[in-house]
Amino acid sequence: MQLSQIYGLQKIKQKLLANVRDNRLPHAQLFLGPEGSGKLGLALALTQYLYCSNKSETDSCGECSSCRKISSHTHPDVHFTFPTVVKSSGKEPVSNDFLEAWRKELQESIYFNTSDWIKNIADDENKKPNITRKETRDIISKLSLKPYEGEAKTLIIWMPEYLAGQSNALLKLIEEPPQKTYFILVAENSDALLATITSRTQLVKIPKYTEEETMAFLQAKYSLDPQKAEQIAYLAEGNFRKAIDLVESVEDNYSEMFRDWMLACYSNNLKTVSSLVDSMHKLGRVQLQIFLTNGLSILRESLLYKTIDNYTIKAEKDQQDFIRKFSGTLNAACIEKSYEQINEVIYHIQRNANAKIAIFNLSLNLRYNFVRKKDA
Ligand SMILES: [Zn+2]
Repeated sequence: MQLSQIYGLQKIKQKLLANVRDNRLPHAQLFLGPEGSGKLGLALALTQYLYCSNKSETDSCGECSSCRKISSHTHPDVHFTFPTVVKSSGKEPVSNDFLEAWRKELQESIYFNTSDWIKNIADDENKKPNITRKETRDIISKLSLKPYEGEAKTLIIWMPEYLAGQSNALLKLIEEPPQKTYFILVAENSDALLATITSRTQLVKIPKYTEEETMAFLQAKYSLDPQKAEQIAYLAEGNFRKAIDLVESVEDNYSEMFRDWMLACYSNNLKTVSSLVDSMHKLGRVQLQIFLTNGLSILRESLLYKTIDNYTIKAEKDQQDFIRKFSGTLNAACIEKSYEQINEVIYHIQRNANAKIAIFNLSLNLRYNFVRKKDA
């Protein structure tokens, strides 16, 4: 992973680059940032920069043998420690037992949290994650070996909060590190770390992303339209994990549910309307807003398709058909009015209105629009 692949954080990147350039990169750093921030990505990108044999002033090359090994998380001198759970065999686990799953997880995202990770590796989600005593012994033996390739060894410890009783063994290692060893601790909650750990590592605070950054990130990653990106950015509160989660859940089911809802309102089928209102209500307040915002984009596309000649619909393929039919059936004023009403309900739901009553009322209003204003 190159530094340019980590969203934003320019000032921090420049500081880290300057440290490498001036040969004063601290041997133990603590990257502390909230869930869904760039901390883990930055730890990986910095490590890649350190080992790159063809680095520029601003980034690793991404192509040399070290870069390729670090991108695939298989470099023999770069080690990982992370929370694990006891497997069904009951043996005390170490991180290396889960290395394949860890690599896969990193390829998919750099914003996952502990429960995402545990869900992936545990047969039972309720198992308590932990960095074990055996793991600290494993770390010590790994780091006491000479580097295989480069000149240095690196240990990235993800979520050192889970060291708990093992902190002291690690502390000793940080205080008297083997030669040319870098430690990067990637943590979320400084209260869960021993003061002795925080005082012996150089703190790099990774801020949460701003709403503007989240919006730009979503538009670049998913080509979302600005309105949808803005809504999701608002709900994600600077947490890229949450933002991704919100977008992906929308793409999954919401278009179909919206289509069913519109059809039920249109055909005046109150029984179906009522059961769909129940399902919408069950989504919860945040997802409901996303669902409705997704609906707004469908209505907007319908309106544009209806009013602009040769308009190219911006939507998934399976939605395009519905948008064409929808705009063919209703007049522009009706689509516009429905758009305004949905938008208003989103506003009220954000301000804690009773969601179930609000969407049921909305359904009645939409039904009224559709019945009255069908194109003759
Ligand atoms: Zn390189």
